[in-house]
Amino acid sequence: MYDFDLLVIGAGSGGVRASRMAAATGARVAVAEERYLGGTCVNVGCVPKKLFYYGAHFHEDFSDAKGYGWDVSVNHFDWPTLRDNKNTEIARLNGIYQSMLENANVTIFPSRAEIIGPHQALIEGKTITAEKILIAAGGRPYVPNFAGAEWVLNSDDIFYLDQLPARALVVGGGYIAVEFAGIFQGFGVNTELAYRGAQLLRTFDEDLGGRLATEQINKGITVSLETDVESITKNDRQELTVTYKNGRIEDYDLVLYATGRKAYTANLGLESTQVELRSNGSIIVDDYFQTAEPSIFALGDIIGTPELTPVALAQGMAFVDGQFKQQPRAIDYSCIPTAVFCQPNIATVGLTEAEAIKQFNEISIYRSEFKTLKHSLSQNNERTFMKLIVDVASDKVIGIHMMGSEAGEIIQGLAVALKAGATKAVFDATIGVHPTIAEEFVTMRTAS
Ligand code: NDP
Repeated sequence: MYDFDLLVIGAGSGGVRASRMAAATGARVAVAEERYLGGTCVNVGCVPKKLFYYGAHFHEDFSDAKGYGWDVSVNHFDWPTLRDNKNTEIARLNGIYQSMLENANVTIFPSRAEIIGPHQALIEGKTITAEKILIAAGGRPYVPNFAGAEWVLNSDDIFYLDQLPARALVVGGGYIAVEFAGIFQGFGVNTELAYRGAQLLRTFDEDLGGRLATEQINKGITVSLETDVESITKNDRQELTVTYKNGRIEDYDLVLYATGRKAYTANLGLESTQVELRSNGSIIVDDYFQTAEPSIFALGDIIGTPELTPVALAQGMAFVDGQFKQQPRAIDYSCIPTAVFCQPNIATVGLTEAEAIKQFNEISIYRSEFKTLKHSLSQNNERTFMKLIVDVASDKVIGIHMMGSEAGEIIQGLAVALKAGATKAVFDATIGVHPTIAEEFVTMRTAS
């Protein structure tokens, strides 16, 4: 007899969902978490980032308000107020996660678990046995090795700064880099974004990255493309001197590296099992989350699927359906909508133009770019961009991309249409909501 039917390692989005759903079937479940309940998303990811994003956006809102007759002359931002209010909210969410698990009768070990066999883990010095072990330990920020790497912060550090820097460098061109460049700039920090490649958000549709760079520059961010850091030193005045590979030398007060995340498999004890890893450290699982060790399963950011909270939640539910309800099902990873909370937002679902060209014989592209009604009075020159990609043979919409205000909110409904296989004719037959930004998605008539 095992101590538990299921031991979950990691109480992030996927681990908590799997624990609660498995316990609801009557299974005896324990979860071990060495840091904080809720994982990256709740503590150092989606939730606090979105709060910071809201906080940073007021900067622009106050400026926009002038054209509408408002005199918003108080122009002071108090970082400790936002940081501490955010901390209070995160503590509240940690408490909610704790009570959700307790109410579901899940045993919580607030400790590290190290696997010591197919059914055993060492927790708080004791051997705990379980019929099944689920690894949902997530990922950790990755910072490359270079001279001076010890001076940089990663996205785990950035949420708790004592004070805001006067000058910040953000390195990277993906989600976190473009989001934090916007956040710092909104807080009044003199911000530079340095990316080694030619186009921000390289994996997104090719119409987005260049437009985002233009908007970021217009908002005051220095965007340096094809720019890579050689080394960093700290001088007597505590400034970080960055030497770039192109020879430029610049001083900053803070350097944030947002150069990807890696599966957190270090010291999990996997060598005591048959679990297999890819060269990047992520765990290899089958469509039902089973590793090469039959009693050990894994899901979430640690298995190399898209590192997004809703993906981990969906995986947690599919895992429980398969293992505790005898209804095995694989996840469909196509058409996952995603949003980047840069300023303006970027959101996307389906194929990029480059992917569509590879997969379909003939595609049509519909593009629209405009200044929104709101900005007709605000003096804000921000542009909005929308794009539909259509498979000509079936008339199905296969890709939707947007840069603009509330793109993250707008894409969710469009993702339902895409998932349902809506054709361009259905988009055209849909009546718009006027006057909105989103109506443009049903009024684009001329393929470019
Ligand atoms: P991303 O994978 O999005 O971007 C990493 C960036 O770092 C790329 O631009 C990459 O460049 C660059 N990079 C990688 N290695 C180096 C290096 N050695 N030197 C310089 N640059 C380098 O990772 P993030 O860290 O931004 O985010 C991690 C993941 O977290 C995301 O992929 C996403 O899944 C998730 N996330 C989701 C969010 C959301 O839903 N809004 C928000 C934040 C994170 P290159 O392109 O040249 O390889």
